[in-house]
Amino acid sequence: MNIFILSGAGLSAESGLATFRGKDGLWMGQPVNDVASLEGFRNDSFSAHIFYNERRWDVLNVVPNAAHYALAELENMPGVELFHVTQNIDDLCERAGAKHTVHMHGEILKCRCLMCAKIFEWLDGTSNVTPCPVCGFTSEWGGIRPHVVWFGEMPFYMDRIERQLKACDLFVAIGTSGKVYPAARFVKKAKREGVKTLLINKEAPDNHSLFDCMRTGPASQLVPEWVAELRASLTV
Ligand code: NAD
Repeated sequence: MNIFILSGAGLSAESGLATFRGKDGLWMGQPVNDVASLEGFRNDSFSAHIFYNERRWDVLNVVPNAAHYALAELENMPGVELFHVTQNIDDLCERAGAKHTVHMHGEILKCRCLMCAKIFEWLDGTSNVTPCPVCGFTSEWGGIRPHVVWFGEMPFYMDRIERQLKACDLFVAIGTSGKVYPAARFVKKAKREGVKTLLINKEAPDNHSLFDCMRTGPASQLVPEWVAELRASLTV
């Protein structure tokens, strides 16, 4: 069975990482467009560096939950071809043992140069005076930025994602509100191909009616349950 999983911030919520949108479109108390856009970075790079340093620090101080472990197990399940694309920028799937998670919105534990575009692991803080460690570039915003996709930027791996949406037998969305595009469109694309769709989320998001099936509750409980059901159905 060819399974396409789209995961979002809800997957990591029980590990202690805040989801994206609070009641007023805030992320950790700040308007999302101010902190997650190139414009925001250019307008106030000092604050943007601090904001992402804090997010990097948050990620380094939490551990995977049962849902991350269940998805890592699914990668190796006989009879399953898994394509897992996550909107998350944390590395909790990898720390749970997953080897093939596709990060369409980038990775917070990496940075890239504003000039040479080289990407490198970065576990430290950045600031307006951090030069690129590869080419030495620096500017009024600093030399490097977090390797994450901001509003107005093209997510990574879109060609691969489009191909997999056509090739899958089952589309599963986990812990995502369906508000951030283009990921929010994937369920419609899968349905157009005749693919069955399942939603696992704490509560019904606005786009829930697009799914054939919905399970509401915490990912750390529902994802391991669903993976166990799948294992049982594939071994009979
Ligand atoms: P979102 O915050 O818009 O939606 C999260 C969804 O998860 C909500 O529908 C919520 O009801 C659900 N949820 C919350 N707790 C849950 C739980 N315990 N179990 C199951 N579901 C739960 O997030 P999104 O749709 O992923 O889109 C927002 C963007 O946020 C993405 O671009 C992503 O890069 C960024 N982001 C990532 C992280 C991370 O890397 N962990 C954290 C915050 C934001």
